[in-house]
Amino acid sequence: TSFAHFSFDEQLMHQIRKSEYTQPTPIQCQGVPIALSGRDMIGIAKTGSGKTAAFIWPMLVHIMDQKELEAGDGPIAIIVCPTRELCQQIHAECKRFGKAYSLRSVAVYGGGSMWEQAKALQEGAEIVVCTPGRLIDHVKKKATSLQRVSYLVFDEADRMFDMGFEYQVRSIASHVRPDRQTLLFSATFRKKIERLARDILIDPIRVVQ
Ligand code: AMP
Repeated sequence: TSFAHFSFDEQLMHQIRKSEYTQPTPIQCQGVPIALSGRDMIGIAKTGSGKTAAFIWPMLVHIMDQKELEAGDGPIAIIVCPTRELCQQIHAECKRFGKAYSLRSVAVYGGGSMWEQAKALQEGAEIVVCTPGRLIDHVKKKATSLQRVSYLVFDEADRMFDMGFEYQVRSIASHVRPDRQTLLFSATFRKKIERLARDILIDPIRVVQ
């Protein structure tokens, strides 16, 4: 597979070319077409596989389709991950590729300034990258709303469970509209993750790196 198979438009292809990737990784070859089709997906993949771009590129396409349908504020896509470092990395990739369409990304994570994050959320962003507890704090304080979210990603779900975030992960899923698209990434596929997938995804396609 080459990038041309994904049928991305020229703006996004331009950003991909700038990143100097020569060809899609296996998880991208398998995952991107599924995510673009609108189906829910489980990706069993580790860091280094290129999984981040596999959910970011289809997310950008989704947001551009959705933006025209639904004006309003609040993010259209949310990416939930376990740590501040991962949040910052994913946010950097969102900004890099989101340039294609001038989309805005905000990162909110535990340990960062509540006030500064709330201010950034209120200025508006189509994409929010977050750790679970901190997102819930901001929603409770009405710094943002999940009302417009229709693309939801949980990255490194097994690590979030290990860190004790199961309740928060489930709570976020239950507060996003049911007709969303959900993508779940995990390095392992243990019983607990399987159970989560059954509860928060609809008829998902499973992709193994
Ligand atoms: P990830 O698994 O998403 O953490 O990505 C690991 C690293 O691979 C990151 O530094 C990405 O920028 C890079 N990467 C992602 N996709 C590709 C690709 N198709 N070709 C080369 N590098 C890539």
